[in-house]
Amino acid sequence: MLRKLAGGRIFDPINGIDGEVRDLYVRDGRLVEPPGPGEPVDEEIDLTGQMVMAGGIDLHTHISGGKVNLARQMLPEDHTAHPRSRTETCRSGSGHIVPSTWATGYRYAELGYTTAIDPAVIPANARHTHLEGADTPMLDTGGFAMLGNDDYLLRLLATGAEQPEINDYVAWILQATQCLGIKVVNPGGISAFKFNQRRLDPDEANAHYGVTPRTILRTLSRSLHELGVPKPLHVHASNLGVPGNYESTLATMEAAEGLPIHLTHLQFHSYGTEGDKGFSSAAPHLAEAVNARDNVTIDVGQIMFGQTVTASGDTMRQFANRANADPSKSSLMDIECEAGCGVVPFHYQDDSFVHALQWLIGLELFLLVEDPWKVALTTDHPNGAPFTTYPHLIQLLMDAGLRRRALEALNPAARKASILEGLDREYSLYEIAVLTRAGPARLLGLRDRGHLAPGAAADITVYADDPDRERMFSEPVLVLKDGEPVVRQGRLLRPVTGRVHAVHPDYDPAVEAKLADYFDRYLGIRPQHYRIDDEELAEEGGVELHPCRERQA
Ligand SMILES: [Zn+2]
Repeated sequence: MLRKLAGGRIFDPINGIDGEVRDLYVRDGRLVEPPGPGEPVDEEIDLTGQMVMAGGIDLHTHISGGKVNLARQMLPEDHTAHPRSRTETCRSGSGHIVPSTWATGYRYAELGYTTAIDPAVIPANARHTHLEGADTPMLDTGGFAMLGNDDYLLRLLATGAEQPEINDYVAWILQATQCLGIKVVNPGGISAFKFNQRRLDPDEANAHYGVTPRTILRTLSRSLHELGVPKPLHVHASNLGVPGNYESTLATMEAAEGLPIHLTHLQFHSYGTEGDKGFSSAAPHLAEAVNARDNVTIDVGQIMFGQTVTASGDTMRQFANRANADPSKSSLMDIECEAGCGVVPFHYQDDSFVHALQWLIGLELFLLVEDPWKVALTTDHPNGAPFTTYPHLIQLLMDAGLRRRALEALNPAARKASILEGLDREYSLYEIAVLTRAGPARLLGLRDRGHLAPGAAADITVYADDPDRERMFSEPVLVLKDGEPVVRQGRLLRPVTGRVHAVHPDYDPAVEAKLADYFDRYLGIRPQHYRIDDEELAEEGGVELHPCRERQA
């Protein structure tokens, strides 16, 4: 079946198309070249006056895995307050802050998103993450496997293992867990917490292994580079939330030694110590550092006011944050000697100095990092705010007047401590398309996603040209997933299943014997229990592998 999407204004930054009127053709789930003369079009959809973008791609959103479920359990009130009724075609669901799987998929699709990546897959729990991904309709999924606090890697580093041996382990983890990239959270710090360290600076040694965060960052970013994995190392830097942490954030950027590195939820790592309260914005400083470095990309992790929950692998920092839990409950745990987990509910309030300044810092970062290709739009769902706040965030980026009006409700001291009032930049639709689909697709190495040229997956979102940008991005006119209409006028038509995106870099099979020996000695399971076969993902719509570059030694 050949579909023609006629006469829409196309915003396709990967192909340099900025609002030009063009027709698109879709067949068998892909965008295709215009038909030859006499070749019939089976269906024509008139998009005159509408704005057309590729489907949205969220490269950092916690939607599956253990800590998301803990967060769901911890906030039953969120589920009773936000039921979603069953319809003829769709299942029921619940929750606003951490919605149930079905509600998560539906809400993302209703906002025009077609791909969502969970950034924190604990290798031992990867199977659970994928199973839950299979239960989340509408979306292509993928994950970043967490390394850098795992006993195996830290032992390798402590004993001076050579880079190729580490590369084999990293590649094995990526293959076994069917992930798209590697994330490191508070490098070495989650491990250090277990040895009673309460902070770990980039050049401070883990008390047990004697390894510094800088070494972990350098080694892992080199590893991904040498393996040819497209997605740069995904880094939740040291000292999250600590006043003055911008210095360790700068050291984190430097630790990659010029190789690609992605700093996630930079807002939480952009704090200075100036002013009476010893808490200030270092966003201008860090934005300048990002502007000056070609190897650094970021996502912001914008906070938005209201109730949410923070769910993080960073047990060290969540232990400190538990004092601010609202409502007052929290959970912390260690997982399989590999990673941590801390769930702490949070209520961000605009009259709080700290919360208001966090909000300002996030927006400062968005507006001060010059190149939109270096920034992805995130709230670190649900840590900064639920993903359903994206339309409001987009409007804030596009409208300086709205930002100034919003400032009036803020804590006055926070407002004074920020330069936001003087920032006139307004994002264009083209730039919003970069932040929400083109940029993330490029960063993730999804070459056939995030754009609208023939050959790309026909994940397409159509918006009305509504001057109220929040309304525009809240209710797409039409969403196509793999070429089929799934949402019309913000309403879900039918559930579909997405795919899993992964990379399978090569490794020397000798690593398997070493891992078998280690698992036998120290763990209660075997390495083959980590391994998820392609067939296991069939229920999820199957796995789509993305090529790695040649091994770059
Ligand atoms: Zn996160």
